[in-house]
Amino acid sequence: MNYIILDLEWDSAYSAKHERFINQILQIGAVKLNGTFNITDTFEETIRSSVSKKVTGRFARLTGITTEKMRAGIPFDEAVDRYNQWADKDAVTMTWSDSDLYSIKENEEYLLSGGRKFAIGKYLDLQKFVQGELRLRGYEDKNQISLSAAAQLLGVETEGFELHTAEDDSLICAALLRECYNRERFLPLIRDTADPEFYKRLTFKPYALSNINDERIDRSALSFHCDRCGAEARRISAWRYRNRWFTAKFACPECRRKFSGRVTFKKTYDDLIIRRRICEIKKKTEQKPDEMQPVSQTV
Ligand SMILES: [Zn+2]
Repeated sequence: MNYIILDLEWDSAYSAKHERFINQILQIGAVKLNGTFNITDTFEETIRSSVSKKVTGRFARLTGITTEKMRAGIPFDEAVDRYNQWADKDAVTMTWSDSDLYSIKENEEYLLSGGRKFAIGKYLDLQKFVQGELRLRGYEDKNQISLSAAAQLLGVETEGFELHTAEDDSLICAALLRECYNRERFLPLIRDTADPEFYKRLTFKPYALSNINDERIDRSALSFHCDRCGAEARRISAWRYRNRWFTAKFACPECRRKFSGRVTFKKTYDDLIIRRRICEIKKKTEQKPDEMQPVSQTV
């Protein structure tokens, strides 16, 4: 199997034509890797913006792509055509986090002409893979790790590389991959971008269920056992919904303990993720007699 690591540098610019800000891609960098993750070819094109005459100061500082360099670039359509000619159609394309894909979608929609699209084919989120490997090695931070932080943790030398230039970032990605590749965990993460489900899943925004009677809620997720004696507790208040959590008061028929049972349901594209907690009842609400009236068990 062959691989491509794709790295895009983009700058936010206001498009008067589309009346919105667009993360316009201004550089495409990529490396081709063979089956042992050694580099066999590299690609880099800088793009002349069709949206703005200047790059932002932050972008120039971060990437080294100045306004002059951007203006010396080639038109976006041409850069994508060249990339697609260069890219191996059967390769697995990787990017550091799938945020590049959002940018690609946006650029395809607003800035590329003639229905041009990036040739991606099979895809893997390299950040997700590397972060998974780091987690197995004891790294616990749940926030998305930066490329440079991952390189540091894995002892990959970044000296001599210009971080945030497309080609050098790709070279660092390749070094990380050589450092932590694991076939059994890598292969299942490969996705097919031609599958219509792929972009639906990518653009799906997870949300919290807010109606306790939602059919997708398994009623057993709403019952609680006493955290002191283990007996099944009885719900003694209505469910209330606040900040994505449903909360109700419970009483244990065995040991008389009262507690607050809390549960939240997060809908992702594939799953309904349930989190549950038992908390002490806050004194203030405990004194309100109307809330302490037992309600009939409806679940
Ligand atoms: Zn109890």
